[in-house]
Amino acid sequence: MSTVTLDTPLQFLKGVGPKRAADLAHAGLTTVEDLLYRFPIRYEDRSRLRTIGSLKGGEYVSVSGRIVHAGVRATRRPGFKIFEAMVSDDTGSLRATWLNQPFLRDVLVTGQHVVLFGHLEQRGQSGLQFVNPQYEVIEQEEGETIHTGRVVPVYERTGTLTPKMQRRLVWEVLHQLPPDLPDPLPEATRDRIGLPTRYAGLLGTHFPPADISIEHLNRFETPPQRRLLFEEAFQFQLGLMARRRSALFEQKPHRIAVDDRIRASARQVLPFRLTAGQRTALKEIVDDLQRPRPMNRLLQGDVGVGKTIVALLAALVAMENGLQVAFMAPTEILAEQHYASLAKLLEGSRFQIALLTGSTPAAARRTRRAEIEDGAVQLVVGTHALVQSDVRFKALGFVVIDEQHRFGVLQRATLRDKGLHPDVLVMTATPIPRTLALTLYGDLDTSVIRDRPPGRLPIRTIAMPDSRRDDIYALVRQEIEAGRQAYVIYPLVEESEKVDLKAATEMADHLAQDVFPEYRIGVLHGRLKADAKDRVMQVFTAGELQMLVSTTVVEVGVDVPNATVMIVEHAERFGLSQLHQLRGRVGRSHHPSVCCLVYQAPLSDEARARLKALTETNDGFEIAERDLALRGPGDLFGTRQAGMPTFRVIDLVRDRAVLELAQREANAWLDRACPSAAELATLLEGWSARFKLIAVA
Ligand code: ADP
Ligand code: MG
Repeated sequence: MSTVTLDTPLQFLKGVGPKRAADLAHAGLTTVEDLLYRFPIRYEDRSRLRTIGSLKGGEYVSVSGRIVHAGVRATRRPGFKIFEAMVSDDTGSLRATWLNQPFLRDVLVTGQHVVLFGHLEQRGQSGLQFVNPQYEVIEQEEGETIHTGRVVPVYERTGTLTPKMQRRLVWEVLHQLPPDLPDPLPEATRDRIGLPTRYAGLLGTHFPPADISIEHLNRFETPPQRRLLFEEAFQFQLGLMARRRSALFEQKPHRIAVDDRIRASARQVLPFRLTAGQRTALKEIVDDLQRPRPMNRLLQGDVGVGKTIVALLAALVAMENGLQVAFMAPTEILAEQHYASLAKLLEGSRFQIALLTGSTPAAARRTRRAEIEDGAVQLVVGTHALVQSDVRFKALGFVVIDEQHRFGVLQRATLRDKGLHPDVLVMTATPIPRTLALTLYGDLDTSVIRDRPPGRLPIRTIAMPDSRRDDIYALVRQEIEAGRQAYVIYPLVEESEKVDLKAATEMADHLAQDVFPEYRIGVLHGRLKADAKDRVMQVFTAGELQMLVSTTVVEVGVDVPNATVMIVEHAERFGLSQLHQLRGRVGRSHHPSVCCLVYQAPLSDEARARLKALTETNDGFEIAERDLALRGPGDLFGTRQAGMPTFRVIDLVRDRAVLELAQREANAWLDRACPSAAELATLLEGWSARFKLIAVA
């Protein structure tokens, strides 16, 4: 008999036939390791099951009993069937029903012993009832040790693979596996933080001993669970920190120095005093510029903190050193805005600036390309496509990427593929929750600007149902009469783009004709041609339009300080971070601003929580944490695109502390081992593939 190891394919296990192996493979499980690193989703204490007689409606419970009657019942709705079972123990009985699952007729039959889990309801006279509970049929001979009479792990049901099949298989595997498994954790690290061995971790995670608290288990806080979580976090962080260290060996071809002449030139373009946060960030960036290795830095700061000027001052340093700068924004509108404001700031300087986007006409494009190639232009503003395009720089030394998180992290790799090693500054206005920063940007240095330019007032945010539209319009009118401007934002969901677009333009017509006939109202959406968008933005910026009805294209970076009211229609459809971004379009001057979130009742619980968060806080970091908690990391940035790692046991929301500990331990280990560039490369082999990261760095 061959021994079972973590690498053993599940199909070679006793009792796993080709059919079962296929089911397992379908659930993503091919080896013993895959199976054992698929955590239970929760635990049930079946050693102390409640008696039916002691139960009340309104709680989540698991119940064990015998089926005394079962069958399919037709209903008045044609084709709609209910499967019903009466389950009883010595103290009472209850009803369980499953909607439209007539196949249960062959699964749950009279006389069987079952365990049910679900939300128990009190249904008038008819007593206690489960609707669609989870169920398990318990066979006597195996029941007492594996499936009942103890704390049992409950796994996610995937296709034909039931929680019970997995529990049985995990049990068997754990009893065939030798306890001295190879351990990927360094012994010193394990000892220092007092973690159990790998085998103890696996055993205690799947089949916890009787004396362990079920609450701890369900929070994944027991030592065996923590051991496995740490293991994955450590392996991830080790790679991330190794990648960061290997960047230290990289050399950039250019050198940057700062002297008094350069300082004076920077002061010349500066129209105001920097805030303390801006000064610190600028210093960190300029220190990086002067180092021999390329900068790889993230500048975080809520909308309106003034990141642009910081980037421009750093750009000046690079340009004064004879280098070119590429300044990239996610959309053409933003690129154009950056271009306009940067050009204005650079007016008195000797540097030439050019705009290059997808809609630059061919002839102009040729001229600009030539100017960039021969160095006549020092600062090029464009969209993120800029570095991927056919543009060749004479001496590209510094790249600024604005609003990075929306567009993935591929640019650096693209740059390197082109043989370029510029300093890179990534800027984001979406404050990144600490956990994500630890994983997503753990290999970047970060600067954060937390303070705002002086004189800014907090934005007042109110949430109102659609039915109170008149109050909202009154408020808008008041602001416009005082000389201010307003945004009305419409959601644009990709799947229903046409319908939404129609709704937005109809809304604009309605506002223009019926509600505010005395005002000039513009419309902006993604389907407009670039020059049409431009015109609208220009007249709105110039104050010739009182109101701008727009889809979310104004979301990032747009800067019209005189706009002080924002109405967001269908606020319930937006994500929390997105609403926060949107609202950042107002609150940009010394006039007080207000943001009205108009929603369609009834609100889901989650939508209510989102709107509540916005009315309660203006702090982007706080918003980001709440967004992560509400939605989970997947939705937050469009995980794949943003280069988020895929974990098998780590949960980014739950396991922040473990990730932090693992990062500290990974750094401590690297400090001790002090690997060479070659050793780091070996360490990184297979690392990005394992966590399904897009190759970056
Ligand atoms: P963001 O960080 O969102 O990119 P911007 O760079 O667009 O913010 O700056 C927002 C506004 O604040 C701009 O109008 C900018 O000119 C202004 N601003 C930036 N820094 C200061 C400052 N230190 N004092 C006064 N105004 C500032
Ligand atoms: Mg900006």
